[in-house]
Amino acid sequence: MPTPPAVIVVVSLDHPPSLKLRRAMKISITGENQIVSPFQIIRDMSNIRHNWTREEIGEIYERPLLSLVMDAAIVHKANHVFGEVQISSLLSIKTGGCSEDCGYCPQAARYHTGVQVQALMKVDDVLTAAENAKAGGASRFCMGAAWREVRDNRDFDRVLEMVKEVNNIGMEVCCTLGMLTQYQAERLAEAGLYAYNHNIDTSEEHYSEVITTRTYDDRLNTLEHVRKAGISVCSGGIIGLGETDTDRIGMLQTLCNLPQHPESVPINVLVPVAGTPLANNGRVPFDELVRMIATARIVMPHSAVRLSAGRLELSVAEQAMCFMAGANSIFAGDKLLTTPNPVFNADMEMFKTLGLTPKAAFADGQPKHKQVADAMQ
Ligand code: SF4
Repeated sequence: MPTPPAVIVVVSLDHPPSLKLRRAMKISITGENQIVSPFQIIRDMSNIRHNWTREEIGEIYERPLLSLVMDAAIVHKANHVFGEVQISSLLSIKTGGCSEDCGYCPQAARYHTGVQVQALMKVDDVLTAAENAKAGGASRFCMGAAWREVRDNRDFDRVLEMVKEVNNIGMEVCCTLGMLTQYQAERLAEAGLYAYNHNIDTSEEHYSEVITTRTYDDRLNTLEHVRKAGISVCSGGIIGLGETDTDRIGMLQTLCNLPQHPESVPINVLVPVAGTPLANNGRVPFDELVRMIATARIVMPHSAVRLSAGRLELSVAEQAMCFMAGANSIFAGDKLLTTPNPVFNADMEMFKTLGLTPKAAFADGQPKHKQVADAMQ
């Protein structure tokens, strides 16, 4: 049988695609090795699943790169405002001296990395940093403390105060403070916390190669506490930790098979730091980052996929491809906790060049705990 002629389709989707448009799209998009029906892509992207197999995710991850990016772009456009990117700012509110052994982290006390230990910041200083970030275009302000876990002490009370103050200036407040109990998650929710970041880092199988001082299940338990408290969940991982493609796929499988997808999924690239066990790991090729972003976009269509650590190494053109592949959130500011990051001005230039628009705070609505509190008033 003769090969059917290739059909080139220009796909332009409304947001979200109307049923009429879905019915009208009867032409196939041709990839190098496969034919994927737009019907199927749209059905997949509208269907939030929690039962992905590794084989299914692997099939997506392995697609020819441009086909993968195109599929991800279609999913992205159908579920988000294309070109809208959230700007988040990350501040280290307590630096270094951490008791954990995360192999990538310069803040672990056991590694000699030159990071200066800094006690928990004052509330006023944090508020000033948040106001500056807001003036620079950030809509989300993340506060990171190098703790194994939160303790119910005066430091935690101070963090709660920070959450309230930053909330009052109209920013989405996020914290990353290590492991949390259910009670602590609820106290953060009461203080007005919008999101909590707790990365699973890598696959369950590779996890113990990177961290031995707490388990994968510990991480998942914290995510469950955050979710139950009605706080928006931010969880992703890092590539470049010596993992295989199967580990990367496994990490995405864990995230997309959670009872509810994380609202935010940071994809970090290892920034090797001298003195850490992973200091000599090679640089992750750019196409592998794009693959991770695009696959995350397809299996978690509604989540924000965040282009995170490692962005300083990327050109504007490379970042543009990440945005095409579904990244719609970045960290801005000259530092990501302790590692360098592009400065605000460079990012604003990039936004202008690429025609990106910053996403407003609370564009996705309030987290569940806030909705419940408002309904009770
Ligand atoms: S990643 Fe967090 S928990 Fe791990 S060593 Fe660094 S600060 Fe501690």
